[in-house]
Amino acid sequence: METSDVSGTVIDRSGHRVSRRSIPENVLKVLYRLHRSGYRAYLCGGSVRDLLMGRTPKDFDVVTDAHPSDVRRLFRNSRIIGRRFRLVHIIFQDQVVEVATFRREPERVAVAEDEVEEILITDDNTFGSPIQDAKRRDFTINALFYNIADFSVIDYVGGIDDLSEGRVRIIGDPGVRFREDPVRMMRAIEFASRLGFEIEKETYDAILVHRAEILKASPPRVSEEILELLRRGWSRGAIRLMVDTGLIEPLLPEIYGAIRGEQASYFWKMLEVLDRTVQSGRRISDAVLMSVLMLPWVIEEIEREEERKQTRMRTGEVIIFIRDLVLPLCARMALASGTRHQIEQALETLWRLLEPPTDRRSQFRAVYREPFNDALSLLELYALSSGRYVDVFRQWQAFAQRVKRAQEEAGEPTTRRRRRRRR
Ligand code: ATP
Ligand code: MG
Repeated sequence: METSDVSGTVIDRSGHRVSRRSIPENVLKVLYRLHRSGYRAYLCGGSVRDLLMGRTPKDFDVVTDAHPSDVRRLFRNSRIIGRRFRLVHIIFQDQVVEVATFRREPERVAVAEDEVEEILITDDNTFGSPIQDAKRRDFTINALFYNIADFSVIDYVGGIDDLSEGRVRIIGDPGVRFREDPVRMMRAIEFASRLGFEIEKETYDAILVHRAEILKASPPRVSEEILELLRRGWSRGAIRLMVDTGLIEPLLPEIYGAIRGEQASYFWKMLEVLDRTVQSGRRISDAVLMSVLMLPWVIEEIEREEERKQTRMRTGEVIIFIRDLVLPLCARMALASGTRHQIEQALETLWRLLEPPTDRRSQFRAVYREPFNDALSLLELYALSSGRYVDVFRQWQAFAQRVKRAQEEAGEPTTRRRRRRRR
């Protein structure tokens, strides 16, 4: 049954598929204790969306009208966190449940800068009502609440319809919402590719208009979004949408230049293989993920350089060339220096691996180094998608297995130590 008034559309328990059995015990405990203490207690955000779709949520976030200090008082095992907006973490043995207090859209600060109005959010710390809390969220499908008091789902923004129609729709005026936080453009693309949804037309058109403003977002946040696409196995659709909407062009012009043409058709296949690989549960390092993204560009630049010089570069030269090439991009993306170093090493080592293995002692030792594993994963992805160097990849793979087996049989004490360090 559905009822609808100013308090939103309420879908009672018989009208939706969210079952308490899919909600972890600790989360239920938190919801119930808040409720029994006289507060509103809702599940919110991605968890309600995923439960309604029959998917397993990544995390379960709770919102309430209790203030952080009230929540803190109710749960001994809790602490208040966050400077920008105060949240409470309730700590269980194997899980942390995050509890936020309803908040509203912060005041928009409009300042004229070169006659362009800026409306970036600067302060986020204002408590609000449930409806205000729903409306300050990004997409309608992310703004649904599950009310523990009567097991109903509350919809203030039309999220239920968009969910059943498979639509990502931004809440409010798309232009305003994208300008106040340009990362939402990336999130729209992420949710569309991850859930197999389409981006609703006005939302999509606003991305086309505002795409260049992605450069105003903080680079670490943007890079983290890009890494998440790659880490969680929906990169192919998402990068495709980033190309189609033109969002990738201002952000990563060099990569855009290299992947839009025919010559990089293997790139899309490579993302497909990568998505399948991570979805199967295999862990791929951030360095490999970023290297996959950079590979077509790196290959193209090396080829261009060789053409210019009319000679093939020696391995040593390639290595210096790669370092000079990727450094500015990594800096612009504000990648951690450790990741940057690993990307350089993975790409450099990849070029070394293009020569098949021999039984040289140095190669024997190289198999135990982190860059070798990264480069081998990279070579695997490249070989499987381009059809090039497949033999070389198989030889290195067999070589690495042989070396490891021999080492294990000999009971080399160093193996264990090295393994631990790698973790
Ligand atoms: P995931 O399953 O990947 O965790 P999620 O929907 O839970 O997806 P989070 O990034 O964990 O996404 O954010 C939690 C919720 O916070 C979102 O569902 C959304 O309601 C809100 N939110 C997150 N980022 C923004 C943003 N940039 N602007 C407005 N609301 C946001
Ligand atoms: Mg989440």
